[in-house]
Amino acid sequence: MSDDSYQIKKRTGEVLFREGDLADCAYIVEEGCVEVSVAREDTQVVLAELGPGEILGEMAVIDQFNRTATAIVTADCRLTVVTPSQIRQRIVDADPVVHSLIEILLRRYRSELTRAGGIPVEAASAFVFHSRGIQKIRLENELMRALETGDIKVVYQPIRRLKDGIICGFEALVRWDHPKRGTIPPEELISLAEETDLIVPLGLHVFEVAVRDRGVLRAACSPGPFMSVNVSAKLTCDQAFLDQAGDICRRTGETPQEIMLELTESSSVDVQRLGEWVVSAKDMGFQITVDDFGTGYASLEYLTRLAPNVLKIDQRFVRPIVEDPRTAAVLLRVVQMARDLGVQVIAEGAESPQHVRMLEEVGCEMAQGYEIGRPVTRMECLALLRP
Ligand code: C2E
Ligand code: CA
Ligand code: CA
Repeated sequence: MSDDSYQIKKRTGEVLFREGDLADCAYIVEEGCVEVSVAREDTQVVLAELGPGEILGEMAVIDQFNRTATAIVTADCRLTVVTPSQIRQRIVDADPVVHSLIEILLRRYRSELTRAGGIPVEAASAFVFHSRGIQKIRLENELMRALETGDIKVVYQPIRRLKDGIICGFEALVRWDHPKRGTIPPEELISLAEETDLIVPLGLHVFEVAVRDRGVLRAACSPGPFMSVNVSAKLTCDQAFLDQAGDICRRTGETPQEIMLELTESSSVDVQRLGEWVVSAKDMGFQITVDDFGTGYASLEYLTRLAPNVLKIDQRFVRPIVEDPRTAAVLLRVVQMARDLGVQVIAEGAESPQHVRMLEEVGCEMAQGYEIGRPVTRMECLALLRP
């Protein structure tokens, strides 16, 4: 007896599902009681008695196996029907580690059930080996080790001042050459580190290496270039990170005035709190750059609220300027707006001599891109600085 497709009522003795049935839904018990049992030789072995607030039938919906137990109503029931899409899509969308753990636990439980029934089962460990979530945990452990062994490297991409062609700064970019997987893209490395607290030691490691390397460049070519360091959205708003960054500058004898902190727009960051963090960073002497300008939802708000020293225009507003007059017009207006606000502009993605020429024409102060130089090691930076 069914009320609607979302809630059903069942009388004592009715069967909700039997072992071997295809699974089309799970149930939440709202009222009444359901007994779950499995057939063992000639008898039914009761696994559970489920009452209000409990869920049943979800296992087969998650792993799309047939039912491995039978559910019979033992006291008149009202049940909420849970559709496969309500469960599966959430599991698909879940963090891969959580996803893998659910699948592993299910597999282990099923294997126990079949073993108890005398049926041989495939080893659960075979699944564990290939699971994406488990690979991720391994990678996290390898990242922790790489941080300790110094396998995380930093390379530097030159930034050119357009009025005199001098290399005036570098952007520090993290690199991880994994012994088995090869180079791990920095975006993957950063998002992996952001999922755990590893982003704190990783961010500080890159910062310290970059600041020390700036010291080496300054000693070789005084006054030396500025150093721009990307700060993960997870570390902006973190006062402890700023304090430790300040300590690193003191220990290495580098002045924060020559260090730029590059912030990228992120929906997870509260702009009000970020504004307070930026004020604190500026009080310590750091320069602030708004990175990837034009790509996020809060670009203009970042410009008004954070009052950055530098604006970095994202590559996608720079690369097309040669052939697309509309993008060129947008770039020109952004440069003019920045000038009105007293903010310097770095254009990213300068890939050809035409790009550099056009950037100069629109009044952009600095440019970065493959035409000026790809990311290089500290030793190679020295060669770029010496005329
Ligand atoms: P980003 O901060 O926008 O860095 C610029 C990226 O564009 C770099 O890629 C750089 O190699 C690339 N690039 C530079 N010039 C050109 C060009 O002319 N054409 C093209 N097509 N690409 C160019 P990379 O090193 O792969 O870094 C990717 C992103 O990873 C960075 O984007 C940044 O968001 C993140 N990242 C890298 N290192 C760090 C780090 O130490 N900390 C944090 N939080 N993020 C980092
Ligand atoms: Ca950047
Ligand atoms: Ca950028």
